[in-house]
Amino acid sequence: MPCSHPGCGARPMKDGDYCFVHDPRPEVVARRQAARCAGGKSKKVKVPRTIAEVKEILGRAMVEGKSPEELAALARIAQTWIAASDKDYDERIKRLEQTHGTNEGNKAQPSSD
Ligand SMILES: [Zn+2]
Repeated sequence: MPCSHPGCGARPMKDGDYCFVHDPRPEVVARRQAARCAGGKSKKVKVPRTIAEVKEILGRAMVEGKSPEELAALARIAQTWIAASDKDYDERIKRLEQTHGTNEGNKAQPSSD
């Protein structure tokens, strides 16, 4: 069963019905706020620009010993980020095709293997 928050498909905390991001229990809210504060105090806030940087952030979180719930939440953010990047890429290709044509005549035949 995924997280009980509507529209959230994340794995719930092992002792609850919600994921780390949506769990309404006071002790989890406190941990979430502490995590946010720690993030806010960090001097070097770097927005990842490549999938390699996203992997690095996830790797660092694993080394730092984050809980499985926190790692799952991070992985979900990374997944959303990658999906959004893919969408942006598709839109850029679409714009290029509108500007320069689709090159349909040279389209390769679908491979049968
Ligand atoms: Zn959730």
